[in-house]
Amino acid sequence: MTHHQVASTQAGTAEKILTGDRPTGQLHLGHFVGSLQQRVQLQHRYEQTILVADLQGLTDNGHRPNKVAENILNVVADYLAVGIDPLKTRICLQSAIPALAELAMYYANLVTVARLQRNPTVKNEIAGKGFGASIPAGFLTYPISQAADITAFKATLVPVGDDQLPMLEQTNEIVRKLNQIAGQEILVECKPLLSNMPRLPAPDGKQKMSKSMGNCIYLDSDDRAIARAVKSMYTDPNHLRVDDPGCVAGNVVFTYLDAFHPDPGYVAELKQQYEAGGLADGTTKQILTDCLQTLIAPIRAQRAVYMADKAQLVAILKQGSEQAQEEADAVLTQIKRAFGLKLF
Ligand code: ATP
Ligand code: MG
Repeated sequence: MTHHQVASTQAGTAEKILTGDRPTGQLHLGHFVGSLQQRVQLQHRYEQTILVADLQGLTDNGHRPNKVAENILNVVADYLAVGIDPLKTRICLQSAIPALAELAMYYANLVTVARLQRNPTVKNEIAGKGFGASIPAGFLTYPISQAADITAFKATLVPVGDDQLPMLEQTNEIVRKLNQIAGQEILVECKPLLSNMPRLPAPDGKQKMSKSMGNCIYLDSDDRAIARAVKSMYTDPNHLRVDDPGCVAGNVVFTYLDAFHPDPGYVAELKQQYEAGGLADGTTKQILTDCLQTLIAPIRAQRAVYMADKAQLVAILKQGSEQAQEEADAVLTQIKRAFGLKLF
């Protein structure tokens, strides 16, 4: 039985999944807990499309497009290395699916500039990237392009980190406007699927881990890099002596132990001990280092195998993109009809 059949036999649960990543760097532990792990599970049950969003990557990299081009295959290798199976999940490339860019041009007429400027994630990113008065138009409008990506596959469920919630809201607004214009429900609204760690912080505990901030532990980081990152992690600044009671809340080491340690009971014991006093930060950091090194080692090894055959990675993307273009084209035709622009 294929996964398509499984999905359709569960009445009312035949979700369609769309997610993606900007190829602006290799994927990191934030992606792993925020979305990749869920995608690996979901691919067995539902029809899943994963988009390598290279056009979206260009929206803040127009002056250095190489950064995007160079990372496309890196991201595909990351997918395969964590267990995303191209026979179960359609992996495709945004720029190879022209219907997506076309759809975005239609949707852009349904969204005001003021609405785009209110998007809290975009606001935050504009401030963080230091664009000043020179915000690329493509950057301000990327939520529209994301709406095109989601609706082109009629996705109902989008596994994302919490920074993406405003994008899904924006998408659903466009969906409602379009259905109103069409006079019937041609598009469906989508729901976010948040993991239990929807925003993994960077080691400093302030920012989210993000490719653009250079604060990442990557899925192929070596043991030394992992140890270094853990050593730099923010803990409780008032926990000066080992015997002092320590604070778990906001302590990045414990945030990561919660996210990555396979034994939650053990982590609960560590927390108790830390709060009572008598557990050193050096000890918790060593436990976390071991845990992350164990997690990443097999992913790193798999990734190296996939990166050694780039032609295979390209073939996977090409095949997925061709299938995706067919599906997106059908939606584009519906949208053109809704606007009364499909004369032939
Ligand atoms: P960039 O800095 O280029 O924007 P990024 O690290 O934010 O890169 P994206 O490609 O923008 O990664 O995000 C892909 C997906 O991963 C999104 O669903 C996003 O919510 C999720 N994600 C990214 N960073 C984290 C994080 N630190 N914790 C949880 N989820 C995350
Ligand atoms: Mg991002």
